[in-house]
Amino acid sequence: MSTLSKDANLEPTPGLKGKGQMNVKTWLSKRARAPAAFINEARRIVGKDNVSAKECVLIAYSLDYWMYGIFLSQYGDLPALPSAVISPGNPREIQGILKCANKYKVQITPFGGGSGVLGGAIPTNGSAILNLQRMNSFISLDEKSLVAEFQSGIIGGNLELELNHRGYSMGNIPQSLYCSTLGGWISTRAVGQFSTKYGKIEDMLLGMEVVLPDGSLLNIRPVPRKSTGPSLKDLFLGGEGTLGIVTKAAVSVHPLPALTSKQSFAFPSIEMALEAVRKILRADARPAVVRIFDELEAERYFGAKEVIAIFISEGEPDFVRPEKKLISNVAGQHGGTPRGENPVEIWLKKRFDIGLGPVIMQQGGIVDTIEVVSLHIDALSLYNDMIKSMRAVEGSLLVSGHFSHFYREGACLYITFVGFPKDPYRYYDDTWKAAMEATLRNNGSISHHHGIGIWRMRFMEQELGAQGVELLRRIRSAFDPNGILNRGKLVENER
Ligand SMILES: Cc1cc2nc3c(=O)[nH]c(=O)nc-3n(C[C@H](O)[C@H](O)[C@H](O)COP(=O)(O)OP(=O)(O)OC[C@H]3O[C@@H](n4cnc5c(N)ncnc54)[C@H](O)[C@@H]3O)c2cc1C
Repeated sequence: MSTLSKDANLEPTPGLKGKGQMNVKTWLSKRARAPAAFINEARRIVGKDNVSAKECVLIAYSLDYWMYGIFLSQYGDLPALPSAVISPGNPREIQGILKCANKYKVQITPFGGGSGVLGGAIPTNGSAILNLQRMNSFISLDEKSLVAEFQSGIIGGNLELELNHRGYSMGNIPQSLYCSTLGGWISTRAVGQFSTKYGKIEDMLLGMEVVLPDGSLLNIRPVPRKSTGPSLKDLFLGGEGTLGIVTKAAVSVHPLPALTSKQSFAFPSIEMALEAVRKILRADARPAVVRIFDELEAERYFGAKEVIAIFISEGEPDFVRPEKKLISNVAGQHGGTPRGENPVEIWLKKRFDIGLGPVIMQQGGIVDTIEVVSLHIDALSLYNDMIKSMRAVEGSLLVSGHFSHFYREGACLYITFVGFPKDPYRYYDDTWKAAMEATLRNNGSISHHHGIGIWRMRFMEQELGAQGVELLRRIRSAFDPNGILNRGKLVENER
């Protein structure tokens, strides 16, 4: 089997230099190590029980949910191995660790839930993982202002539990709710399944606390908006751990809905379903969930060989009832045939499943997902082009898609692909290239909510232009002159 290309921008571990299939034990003995003095100081700062250099722990933190990394690990290849896993308990300890990392020039990789799918939390070889999961507390709820504060390492499911039993929800419910953190959501610009009503993480984030790479502390006070120059919050929304460590965040919350309405429709084509949803949003309806599944996905989900759109409206009954009616009228005018609540119930039951990905990969197959975004005017051609281009790659077995996360102006297209190729690396690389090129050809953006990490970096220049990439690089080096934070992610530290 082939291995990662040089483009992946990781310092190569011995396991990735050659043909792969290197025994983990062999390259554990060859790995890079942070200076012992750094590890000792880290132990002093966070307590010795909160620094681990045990091999089983290092291996556990050497991967996130990037599918190709997981695929390689089945053959004994890990993308890289850290020197230590450090688990701080408060911002002061993080400040100490970053100061110490600057002193010893040790690279630091922030790690939330490790559910990122582009390799953003994978360490560089010999770096230290900064595991934020001990910082997982609910801090406060201001019911009058509808603002809640949490430490950044709280897992999404626990955050929702804290709010739900007080009668509220944040409304950010990603499929990875139970394995991702608030800090990870902010750092990747994550989006939940109920986003069309409640917004995306950037709509919810009001204020935050960040430890900057030099160890200083930045506080951004929570207010609904302000006009005080460029938004500093935006540097860390999607910062992917390159510009600072998010330690605390204040987010907007919503009272739990009094009424939930579920409906679904079958459409003769994707085009007609897209048009119906566009008109529904144009009429200012804001259903929490809107998803359009192509025939292959509808068959997989609902056993129906037709394009299916599902809608969930929720909130005060006086808003929900007319919204339900509007959706049903507009869907009907665009060829939608009602299919009742059942498809929505099925989706609600399956929405946290991770599918057959791990099983397919154990059989030697490759599975991954790609999410992109475009304006409505390009949505159909983007879908058709992506599906066609990705299916044309040798080894392709299945390419299917659904639209989710709608806006008045456009939508997110989410594609799943499966292949059983002779050369897994070539297939993976070619399929991603086909998808990204189709996106750019159709005026789309290369990521809607998964971010860049390691794997998408190579497409950043096409997305942002050379100036855009250079600007991000300069921001990085102004914040972090020693290049300690999450090297090899988002954009290269140096040209
Ligand atoms: C089954 C599955 C379903 C998914 N569904 C969705 C979905 O519905 N919507 C969606 O948006 N994404 C989804 N994802 C992707 C992933 O869950 C998100 O990207 C999530 O935001 C990552 O959070 P995390 O805490 O796991 O971050 P990690 O994977 O640990 O880290 C992600 C990046 O953020 C950095 N980072 C983490 N915490 C901090 C911090 N406190 N300060 C600074 N940097 C930090 C890391 O260094 C890394 O670069 C899914 C993933 C899986 C595996």
